[in-house]
Amino acid sequence: MNINGKTRTSGLIGNPVEHTMSPVIHNTLSERKNCNMAYVPLHVETGRLSEAVKGAYALNLLGCNVTVPYKTEVIKELVSIEETAQTIGAVNTLVRVDGGFRGYNTDMPGLYRAMQQDGIKLEGESILILGAGGVARAAAVMAVLHQVKEVIILNRSLEKARSLAEDMNKLAKKDLVKAKTYEEYVTLDGYGETDGKKYLAIQATSIGMYPSVDEAILEEKEFYQMLHTGYDLIFNPYTTKFMKLVRENGGKAYNGLKMLLYQGIIAFELWNRILVEDEIAIEIYDKMKKELEGESE
Ligand code: NAP
Repeated sequence: MNINGKTRTSGLIGNPVEHTMSPVIHNTLSERKNCNMAYVPLHVETGRLSEAVKGAYALNLLGCNVTVPYKTEVIKELVSIEETAQTIGAVNTLVRVDGGFRGYNTDMPGLYRAMQQDGIKLEGESILILGAGGVARAAAVMAVLHQVKEVIILNRSLEKARSLAEDMNKLAKKDLVKAKTYEEYVTLDGYGETDGKKYLAIQATSIGMYPSVDEAILEEKEFYQMLHTGYDLIFNPYTTKFMKLVRENGGKAYNGLKMLLYQGIIAFELWNRILVEDEIAIEIYDKMKKELEGESE
């Protein structure tokens, strides 16, 4: 990488940021797309987000990504916000504009582009979303905006699932989304039917993440028998317990590494006003996979 007087900087605001894979994504993209941009982790201490965003603008940063715990808090620091990010209520990408930063959410289109790459279609599907946190909301908005047949949100806290379902039904302008607890999976259409592979499930809880690799949010085979596809948004480990259970019961399973890659690619495209070709995306995906394998050794 050739850093010189014209190099633009961007980076990841969060706390912690020390285990991020985003520098691999962006610095490889800069190199392969010939963009004079460097990407660094930007650890921001609790209570210092406002200073950090103002400082990033004053220091002429091209843009930033934003991660846990600042994706919602950052909104009040922006000069404008794109519609999808507003609907999701979370911003993970800041783009430099006149007077400050404009906020985007690239998690949602990142998940959509990852699913398309994996050959998964949403139109007409019955979707189960496991979880009702930040990323579950992005998945739910994606589903509502892509003509799915129905969405059922399963969550530990039924209140949170209901509140998300209510917001999504307002967005859909119809009764498309329902809320249930995990235990209530036995009330789903198709339960107990051995040939009834009815659902595409998106796993959006943090259960099963490294180091708790032997956990899955649901363990019963009767649940997995209802899935034709399981999409786990966790990427570490590369193959989660949830994914193993999906495959053992005859479904197709994917992890969240491609979503992570594409949310980064879309941010890079916004900052540099260019398109990234699939060939480069595949190359970076392989690099990220190797990095993950190295971490788990
Ligand atoms: P979040 O807002 O904190 O939500 C966490 C979710 O997990 C909630 O639904 C929560 O249920 C559930 N949960 C946590 N502990 C639980 C437990 N012991 N039993 C049952 N449910 C539990 O987190 P998030 O930002 O949505 O992230 C969720 C996961 O997605 C993380 O593993 C993260 O790594 C992954 N993610 C991946 C990407 C990607 O690019 N691939 C991007 C963002 C996030 P309650 O509501 O009942 O508390």
